[in-house]
Amino acid sequence: MALQSGVITKDTRQLQDDSRKMPIHKKADIHHSLKAEAVSALELSNQLHSTLDIGKVFEIYEEQTLKHVPFDSIKYSHPEDSFCYSNGKTKRHSCQYRLLMGGNNLGEIEFTRSKKFTEPETIKLEYMLSSLLNPLHNCLMYRQAVTNALVDPLTSVCNRSAFDASVSREISLAKRHKNPLAMIILDIDLFKSVNDTFGHLFGDCVLRDVAKRISEEVRDSDIVYRYGGEEFVILLRNTTKKGAHQLAERIRRSVSSLNCNYGGNSTNVTVSQGVTLLKATDTENDFFERADKAMYEAKHNGRNRTVVSK
Ligand code: GH3
Ligand code: MG
Ligand code: MG
Repeated sequence: MALQSGVITKDTRQLQDDSRKMPIHKKADIHHSLKAEAVSALELSNQLHSTLDIGKVFEIYEEQTLKHVPFDSIKYSHPEDSFCYSNGKTKRHSCQYRLLMGGNNLGEIEFTRSKKFTEPETIKLEYMLSSLLNPLHNCLMYRQAVTNALVDPLTSVCNRSAFDASVSREISLAKRHKNPLAMIILDIDLFKSVNDTFGHLFGDCVLRDVAKRISEEVRDSDIVYRYGGEEFVILLRNTTKKGAHQLAERIRRSVSSLNCNYGGNSTNVTVSQGVTLLKATDTENDFFERADKAMYEAKHNGRNRTVVSK
């Protein structure tokens, strides 16, 4: 595959420096069209700034860029953000750019087509790309802020806000598609005494390790939330009561085998769990209350156990 690559940065001097390396006659031709490109880039920039939806930004960007430089495929990816934009069929010749802004890596973008990209075309592409940097940076920061608002910073699992935001959606999806939806409520046993004996920092390490064990046991489609202090909720899509019970027991065994060892102190913890399956007539509250009741039954029955609701 023939590859042309470059780095687009916010520093427009770099774009100018590149064009200085060109023969004079070529430069004159290109200069002629640059005025028009600059206007297009400005118009594009205004359009891209109209939304914080990263998918929409790339749709606008693709549509507008195609008016100036034909290409067969476009692909954008970011090393840390899961968002990826890809459209069209990959062809032989490609033009790749790493997008940098103020030391921030904004990802990589690749255009391909069957015919080699000419120099004037790559300059046009770079003009258009320089309009993408600021709006893309804003979208990525917005996405990060939304993610942060839904993730528990101590354990890195979803937080209570995320649960409140998604439980009704999960319930309606399960009801609409007639898929089973299960819930596990897990509470660490006698956690107050762990804090009282070893201190809160030690307790925090235990919470982190328990969350890690839970996350290791569940499937990708299951969602783990830290609902409150030492209480976790797991929503299990497409899972029967029996499947949820088996998973809860796997988690319980895994947590009880955990040796919490920090700063020279060590202890073991256990968990009590309530399991329930969504019923057709359930409200959000009914569903949650049933799992919670089962969890309290597990506590009353002696802790370190799982109770499945009727
Ligand atoms: P039970 O088996 O009945 O659940 O007993 P418990 O001691 O776990 O329950 P209780 O509700 O009495 O205590 C919960 C404890 O969890 C008290 C609180 O200090 C601790 N806790 C809640 N959030 C955090 C946290 O973020 N970090 C730490 N270290 N402790 C926390
Ligand atoms: Mg507890
Ligand atoms: Mg509790």
